[in-house]
Amino acid sequence: MRSVIFLAPPLSGKGTFSDYLVENYGYKQISTGDILRKRMASDEKLASIMASGALVDDETIMDIVSDELKKISNEPFILDGIPRTLNQAEKLDEMLNKLNIKDILPIYIDVTKDNLIKRVTGRRVCPKCGKSYNIYSESFKPQEDSICDNCKVELTTRKDDNLESFLNRYEVFNSSTLKAIEYYKEKESLLVLDNNNEDQTEAIKVLEGAIHEH
Ligand SMILES: [Zn+2]
Repeated sequence: MRSVIFLAPPLSGKGTFSDYLVENYGYKQISTGDILRKRMASDEKLASIMASGALVDDETIMDIVSDELKKISNEPFILDGIPRTLNQAEKLDEMLNKLNIKDILPIYIDVTKDNLIKRVTGRRVCPKCGKSYNIYSESFKPQEDSICDNCKVELTTRKDDNLESFLNRYEVFNSSTLKAIEYYKEKESLLVLDNNNEDQTEAIKVLEGAIHEH
C-alpha cells in the first residue's frame, strides 16, 4: 500500500478519506496539528509561538515529522498538515529520501470554492443530539426547515462556521499550498481527487485504485 500526503483546502473532506484508510487498511495517521498541540504542554517556546497565531517554523515541523516517521516500521502512513509550502515540500522529499521511504502518493482534494462555501454556510447542527445537516444539500438537509429530524428542536450554526474565517483559511491555502501542489504536478506524481460530489463512493474508488498501484 502506498503512503499518502493530503493537500487539501479547508472543508474539502479530507477526514473522510483518512478515516477510510485507517479503518480499512491500517494506515497510521501523522497529523502535524495534533502533534504540535500535544507537544505544547511540555514545550513553552512552542506554546508561545502557537498562542501568538504565528506559523511554526519549517525546521521544527520537519523535526517532528522525522521523529514520527522513524517510529513507523512498515505500515503505510498518512501525512496530514504538511507540506503547507513549497519549501516544506522540497524538504520533505529530502527527508523521505534519507529515510529511504519511497513511493509516496501526494493527493490534492479538489473541491470548487463555490462548493466549499456552501459547505460552510449551509451547515446546521442540532444543539440537542449534535446531528449535522446542510441546508444546500439534497441528502443532508433536514426534512423540515431548520428542525432536527430526531429531536424536533431548532437547528443552530456553529460559531466557527463563518464565511469570513473560511475565506481567510482558504486564502492562506491558496497563497502557500498551491505552490506545493504545482511542485508535485511537475514531478507527475500528483493524484487530483475530485470530491465535489456529495456521494463520495466514486472518489473512494479512485483513492483505492491509486493506493494499490505499483
Ligand atoms: Zn437532534
